Amino acid sequence: MQLEVIIGLEIHAQVATKTKMFCNCDNDAFGAKPNSLICPVCTGQPGTLPAPNQKAVELGIKTALALNCSIPEHSKFDRKNYFYPDLPYGFQISQFDEPVSENGKVEIRLNGEKKEIGITRLHLENDAGKLTHVGSFSLCDYNRAGTPLMEIVSDPDLRSAEEAKIYAEEIQKIVQFVGSSRADLFKGEMRFDASVSLREVGTEKLNPRAEIKNLNSFRALELAINFEIQRQQKLWDNDEKPKGDSTIGWDEEKGETFLMREKESAADYRYFPEPDIPPLILEKKAVEEWRTELPELPLAKRERFVQEFGVSEEDAKTLTSSKALADYFEKVVEISGDAKKSTGWVLSELLARMNEAQLKIEEQKVSAENLGKLVKLIVDNEISGKIGKEIFPEMWENGTDVEKIIETKGLKQISDSGEIEKFVDQVLADSPNQVEQFKAGKDNLLGFFVGQVMKLSQGQANPGMVNELIRKKLDS
Ligand SMILES: [Zn+2]
Repeated sequence: MQLEVIIGLEIHAQVATKTKMFCNCDNDAFGAKPNSLICPVCTGQPGTLPAPNQKAVELGIKTALALNCSIPEHSKFDRKNYFYPDLPYGFQISQFDEPVSENGKVEIRLNGEKKEIGITRLHLENDAGKLTHVGSFSLCDYNRAGTPLMEIVSDPDLRSAEEAKIYAEEIQKIVQFVGSSRADLFKGEMRFDASVSLREVGTEKLNPRAEIKNLNSFRALELAINFEIQRQQKLWDNDEKPKGDSTIGWDEEKGETFLMREKESAADYRYFPEPDIPPLILEKKAVEEWRTELPELPLAKRERFVQEFGVSEEDAKTLTSSKALADYFEKVVEISGDAKKSTGWVLSELLARMNEAQLKIEEQKVSAENLGKLVKLIVDNEISGKIGKEIFPEMWENGTDVEKIIETKGLKQISDSGEIEKFVDQVLADSPNQVEQFKAGKDNLLGFFVGQVMKLSQGQANPGMVNELIRKKLDS
């Protein structure tokens, strides 16, 4: 029996607002002292009322638009009831049957092939707090309680762990480009739930699925899905295919999934409309205005870089790995006027150092203007590429202006033919044997002479002119 893999992803992304979803508490809880960013609203004190954060709604809708979703004019918040110590209200404020958006799609690239993944919906909700288990008791930190989340639900269109990972990476880039979430996995700003099931090839019906909860890295996502596929495959082989949905966890250390509970159905959550928040009415005009404010999205940018700058697919992918890096690269090209040389400098010199130092583009010291000027000086033959590489470390270390370094060190390229001629004459006079051999037909000695002149001029002579002059002298 041939089986195919069916995967759907739910992605939770923390919305990058200043304040929480329903109160004015600071939304940046990472590293803050436990329970220092809380108030009566986000801790669910009696008599308090939640008030939706307008910016969170705007950023959620913009993301939904970027995911090609339709935005109904009418939507509402609902209570999702479950009992857990990290949930001070005793319920989560989420969206059930009327989310802010639905029916979208996103395009991904699989080994160069296009594939469309359906987006069921994007809805808004608030996050729970955090529990830390110590021995026989648990500590509650409510700093994160009330943080706005976007939940992005895909259709079950993914067919392998690799596809799921590529899709998740694309969503991360989209929310980062839109500016709706920093989506820093390390800080838990983006998390994944993956639903996995198998079915016989050729059938349409979906079988009971296992939902792997709370995966917090792309690696865990891929490993957990692959493990789960294998596990279910074995069940099918033994004629014990899953009879009902289940919720499972991922044990990073053991590298295996484990059963948490037989899956709840929507009825278990006793959803009902949130009585303290009026329905959201989203006027078409406002939505259309937000649509015009959307930036160029990662995939479109990637394709434009290939077309406009002639960079390879792979390089375009690297250059658009963050919006800040893509903007930086475009600025360097704009100033230098040479896309190819700019690509080389950004990838081989700058990114190599950034990776080594584990810095982001925003955190390092070479401004796009500064690198752009350096590349332009090389393009204009004001300095050689070799000199460029010699001075770049100082730009990297101290952010020093390239023109200042060149001026201080007197490194400008020598393009004065009289001056170059002096170097050439000296080299030829110093190497009578080589001159003789060259005249006897040993053409490849030209490189030797050029090298000597460059050495004598401390790398500053214009190599093109040096070449030309030596040839002229030796041929005469
Ligand atoms: Zn609060």
